[in-house]
Amino acid sequence: MPEVSSQEAPYVKAQELEKIILSSSGESDVDEGDTSRSLHQQDSDDDDDDDDDNDKEEEETVRLSVYFDVAAWPVPVPDVLRVDLIKRGSEPFQNRDGPFSPVERQGEKSKGKSRQLTTAWFYKALPNGEKILRTWMVYSPSKQSLFCFCCRLFAVDDKVTRTSSFVTGFQLWWKLNPKVSDHEASEQHLTCLEKWNTRIEATKMP
Ligand SMILES: [Zn+2]
Repeated sequence: MPEVSSQEAPYVKAQELEKIILSSSGESDVDEGDTSRSLHQQDSDDDDDDDDDNDKEEEETVRLSVYFDVAAWPVPVPDVLRVDLIKRGSEPFQNRDGPFSPVERQGEKSKGKSRQLTTAWFYKALPNGEKILRTWMVYSPSKQSLFCFCCRLFAVDDKVTRTSSFVTGFQLWWKLNPKVSDHEASEQHLTCLEKWNTRIEATKMP
């Protein structure tokens, strides 16, 4: 049954992306690796070479940003891309060494005060002093915001009112405490974390 209505636009975008990813992941019968041309099935024998180059560049940009910037993922993430991202893991998306952009707090009292994310936030301090990496935490350089890898991966909605700010992008650095630990303990996060772990196990299967 068709249940796409309000989410039609992002879904179409996701399908476009899926096509790009599928056609770029080998198994193409194109010689000399000119995949961009075959993607469009163009036989451009006229002289608009410039347009052709632009198309190629655009596709390259989409593909690169999806694999380096969590904010570039469509909502919902198409399954073929999700599988690929799970195989890659969250590490390439963490950008945990920065640079992080400072955010100025609005309001009279705090005028001129700016706060910044630090690498330390990517580690959780255990009661015994041990520090463990928060693998779920990823920073988007383009949105200059924090996201949750697994919650974003399994998000079906990106409406701010209906979902976590770690799905839509979190930037209120002065609220890192307690928002980070709140998110970590939330039911929504734990559910997505479990899905993520299950999928990791599944990709390890022969
Ligand atoms: Zn989460």
